[in-house]
Amino acid sequence: MQAKDRELLRKLPKTDLHVHLDGSVKPSTLVELAEAQGIALPAAGANGMRPYMSVGEECGSLVDYLSKFHWVSQVLHTEDALERAAFELAEQVAQHNVRYVEVRLGPQLHRGKGLTVDEVLLAAVRGLKRGEAAFGVKGRVIAACLRNHPVAANREVVEAAVRLRDRGVAAVDLAGPEAGYPPEQHKEAFAPAIRAGLPITIHAGEAAGAESVRGALLALGARRIGHGVRTKEDEATLELVKERRIPLEMCPVSNIQTKASPGWDRYPIREYVEQGLAVTVNTDNLTVSDTDMTKEYGLLMEKFGFTLQEIGQLIVNGVEAAFLDETEKSALRRQIVHELQGYGISAV
Ligand SMILES: [Zn+2]
Repeated sequence: MQAKDRELLRKLPKTDLHVHLDGSVKPSTLVELAEAQGIALPAAGANGMRPYMSVGEECGSLVDYLSKFHWVSQVLHTEDALERAAFELAEQVAQHNVRYVEVRLGPQLHRGKGLTVDEVLLAAVRGLKRGEAAFGVKGRVIAACLRNHPVAANREVVEAAVRLRDRGVAAVDLAGPEAGYPPEQHKEAFAPAIRAGLPITIHAGEAAGAESVRGALLALGARRIGHGVRTKEDEATLELVKERRIPLEMCPVSNIQTKASPGWDRYPIREYVEQGLAVTVNTDNLTVSDTDMTKEYGLLMEKFGFTLQEIGQLIVNGVEAAFLDETEKSALRRQIVHELQGYGISAV
């Protein structure tokens, strides 16, 4: 891809609806936090630590991918560290003209020094609010439950998210190992979100097949699906996703790295778009996947021949799928559609 095309892609206004806070911490920040907290790291400096935090092209498996969270997972147990990571995430996505970001984190994973679930979530919210003021990126938090956590721990997360919905928490998610932990097990944990009408998005169809997507929709009431790459393995599930107009939060670079898809030639994004699915494009983990929104869209142009017009439509799909109230969503839509028109892209 030529530099001028990349620069144009960078300038387009965008959303990122699926990005994990812990997978997006800058190596330099990990180094500083570890030093301040007295945690010994296996290598010196940001450059030394980068290979321990990013998978690169040769990622072997999901296990390899998940190992890259190891060091970061030790430093994000204070309000200051969480706030800083969220603020810097806004700063990083602003460089790619992301105008709206939904940042997810699993509060139970950040309680090693005694923070409550509410404190963890509010620290991230504060970082995003500061990020909005400094970089003009509107941000919301998604509180993630973990598949391998007990129902009670997940229910605590969902109840906190419901409590904090007017304070910057937009939705709840279910993440973690997909195989062996079917969505049905978590029905009880998500009940408070369903009762309160708080949006639910579920990681599904990444490490497990279409039955996981189906379960996320039918058992847990998911309004969006995280990844959903393997939805096409079952025709009826594909129809269900289409019928209910369920947005898929696809994360191309990550999906190839974790082997959710065996390779670019088998990655179904073009066929999902052509079948009329609400495909959105996201990063998953800025640092672990070593990616950004410009790179994601650039790869779609290179590997699948997406035109700028089609990229514009994917961007608008992201706006439509945002967990914002109608007033805020229309303001974001107006702004983004107008800016896209400035680049000769008319998306609806
Ligand atoms: Zn994810």
